Amino acid sequence: SFPANLVPQAPEDPLFGLAREYRADESPYKVDLGIGAYRDENAKPWVLPVVHKADEILRNNPELNHEYGPIAGIASFTTKAADLILGSDSPALKESRATSLQTISGTGAVHLGALFLAKFYQGGRTVYVSNPTWGNHHQIFKNVGLTVDTYPYFHKETKGLDFEGMKEAFQNAPDHSIFVLHACAHNPTGVDPTQDQWTEIAAIMREKNHFPFFDCAYQGFASGNLARDAWAVHYFIEQGFELVVAQSFAKNFGLYGERAGCFHAVTSPAEDAPQTIARIGSQLAILQRSEISNPPLYGARIVSTVLNDPELFSEWEENLRTMSGRIITMRSALRSKLEELETPGTWNHITDQIGMFSFTGLSEAQVMKIREEAHVYMTKNGRISMAGLNDSNVEYFAKAVDKVVR
Ligand code: PMP
Repeated sequence: SFPANLVPQAPEDPLFGLAREYRADESPYKVDLGIGAYRDENAKPWVLPVVHKADEILRNNPELNHEYGPIAGIASFTTKAADLILGSDSPALKESRATSLQTISGTGAVHLGALFLAKFYQGGRTVYVSNPTWGNHHQIFKNVGLTVDTYPYFHKETKGLDFEGMKEAFQNAPDHSIFVLHACAHNPTGVDPTQDQWTEIAAIMREKNHFPFFDCAYQGFASGNLARDAWAVHYFIEQGFELVVAQSFAKNFGLYGERAGCFHAVTSPAEDAPQTIARIGSQLAILQRSEISNPPLYGARIVSTVLNDPELFSEWEENLRTMSGRIITMRSALRSKLEELETPGTWNHITDQIGMFSFTGLSEAQVMKIREEAHVYMTKNGRISMAGLNDSNVEYFAKAVDKVVR
C-alpha cells in the first residue's frame, strides 16, 4: 500500500492552480496574466493563420494516415527544425556533427536531454539553472537523478541581469559542469544577456569546459526575428562547443497542446565527429523508444508543412511579427501608463525586458492584493504574461499596480 508518510499529497502545480482560480472568478473585470500562452487583442487564444492553411493542406492530403512515425520523429520536421535553431549554414550541419529527435514539445526535449546526460555525461552530476528559472527545470533534472543548483541571474535593484553574479558562479562551479541557458526571452524574468555578454559567458564556459544546455522555447517570439533569437546558440556552435538544445514550437506556432518539439545534440569539430554523433543518436533513439516509442504526428506535420514551403514560411514570419509586435506595443503602453500615473519606482524594465513575460518587481503581498482587489491573476513572484494585456485592460492593470505600490 501507499501510506501518506511515503506518498504525501503533492501540492498543485502553481500555474495550473492559478488558471483554475481565474476561471472560478466571476468578476467581469478579471484579467489573466498567468500562464504563458499568447492572447490576441480580445484576450482570446489565436490560431495562427498559417497554421489554418497548413491544417487545410494536411486534411486534403489522401496519402496521410495514422500509422506509427519513426522513433526519431518525422525527418522533414527534424531537418528543418535543426536548420532553424542551429542555422541552415551551421558548421555543425555541414560537418554532420548534429543529431535531432522529435520530442513531446520543449518539456520532452529538456527531459530527453536530461535523461541522456544522467546516463552518459562524464562531467559533474550537478546541473546549474538560473535563479529564477522555469520551475519545471528543477523537477525534470531531479527526476532523472541529477542534482540541481542555481546561478545568480536577476538583479533585484536594476530588474536586469546580474551579470557579475552570474559570471562569478560560472567561474566558481567545478570544471565540466552543466549549465542550462535560456536561448532567448528568459522565463520568468524577460531578461536576456546582450550579445557581448553572451560572448563573455562563452569564454568562461570554454575556459572551464562547462557544458551548455540551451532551452529555446521562444524563437521568433521574442524579437520577431528568428535568427536574432537564435544568436546565442549559433555563436556557441561557431565557437566549437559540444552542446544540446531543447526546442519548442508551442509558442512560436501557437501549437501548445499539440506538443511539437525537437531535441538536438551537437559534438565539437573532430575527424570522427560524424561517428560520435551517430553513436549519440543511437543511444538517444533507445531512450526515446523506452519513454514514448515515437512522437505524436499532428503538430510536427503542421510545422513541417510550413517550414518546407517558402511561401508559408514567410507567412509564418509575418504571424510571428504580429505576436511579438503586439507584445512589444503592450510593454510600451504599460510603461507609459505607469509613468503617466507617476507610480512610485522606475518602469523602464517593462520595455527593457523581452518575450512573453515581465518580472514586474511586485512582491508576493502586492500580487495577492491585486488578485483580491482587482481580480488580476499573476504568479506570486510578480511575473506577468504580457500577452494577457490588451488595449481594453492595460490601463485598468496599470491603475491596480499604482494602487498597491503607493
Ligand atoms: N522551457 C521554457 C523556458 C519554457 O518557458 C517552456 C514553456 N513554458 C518550455 C521549456 C516548454 O514548454 P512546452 O513543453 O509547452 O514546449
